Amino acid sequence: MSWIPSPELLAPLAPWFDRVRRDLPWRAADLDAPHPDPYAVLVSELMLQQTQVATVTPYFNRWMEQFPTPQHLAEAGEDAVHKAWEGLGYYRRARFLKAAAGTVAAEGWPTDLDGLTGLPGLGPYTAAAVGSIAFQWPTPALDGNAFRVLARLLLIEGDPKDQAVRFRTWLEPALAAHGPSRMTQALMELGATICLPSPVCATCPLSERCGAHLTGRTGDIPPVAKRPKPKASTLWLYALEAEGHVLLHPPAAKGLLAGLWRWPALEAAEPSLQALVPAPGAVRAWPGWTQVYTHRREAVNPLHLSLDARFTPAPGLRWVPRAELAALPLGKRDQRLRDLLETPGQVPMEAPDPAALIRACSAV
Ligand code: SF4
Repeated sequence: MSWIPSPELLAPLAPWFDRVRRDLPWRAADLDAPHPDPYAVLVSELMLQQTQVATVTPYFNRWMEQFPTPQHLAEAGEDAVHKAWEGLGYYRRARFLKAAAGTVAAEGWPTDLDGLTGLPGLGPYTAAAVGSIAFQWPTPALDGNAFRVLARLLLIEGDPKDQAVRFRTWLEPALAAHGPSRMTQALMELGATICLPSPVCATCPLSERCGAHLTGRTGDIPPVAKRPKPKASTLWLYALEAEGHVLLHPPAAKGLLAGLWRWPALEAAEPSLQALVPAPGAVRAWPGWTQVYTHRREAVNPLHLSLDARFTPAPGLRWVPRAELAALPLGKRDQRLRDLLETPGQVPMEAPDPAALIRACSAV
């Protein structure tokens, strides 16, 4: 089935966006000219992956103060970069951003979509978003929101991602006709504020021409993908402190937690935790919480264990002066225990055997 040409079907989006667009710190005032600071667009697009605008805004402002140009970011230390990203999650994005900034600082901005896609961390979506918003190239950016909007508008059955190539070809003339930056951001804004999983069609500028709305299919287009049930686990998270130092895992070079410092942790299933020994005065505990990851739910029990003297730590652990703790980049779970250290705890009724923990963390 042929689709109505995109410049015609999407025409109401442009004036709607000009009227309702939010004033965001990375948005240019003039949507018809190339963006005055492509780096700001790149930073915002990487921060906005998997993260809400309200969360990103203060991070973006601080980031641009600390690393105002690609050059500044390229020359910054890894710890400073991870620290500035601390709390945003998906830390690979920070490393990609630094690597991309290094390329741009050394070689200048790419001059086409292939060049942008070649920058570290820029997949087809981010490259197209930066191309259209920063440089006014007619490069349609398709994220989950855009796929949802287009699937409903064009009444697409099945997974709309299967239509990616066709969607891009169809969208290009609309970007060229109404402005690449304006149309890319309009589509994003519609998906983020109105064409939600439960859409608010009454306020949608496209409602009179939307296939799913006109046929009462907004509930089943696009089909909702079933997610596997997250795996559950339980662990004890320890702040071991002695002689003004705390014991931490230094950052790994690779993997999900690369660049981040971590507290030692013991899985509840460890045999060494069978013997539960109260240690009044030496152990503080706080109520636990559930840390939710994409594929996992972790019941976390935070503890603070004070020792008289440091021991030789096992490989992969290091004593760090407690005064330096605030400056180290930590993941969300570990930040939470760091924050708790500043608040009174309770002596736990039962805690895993401190000696077992020391054995687990000790080189001897
Ligand atoms: S009319 Fe409803 S379903 Fe269609 S694009 Fe607008 S919000 Fe989405």
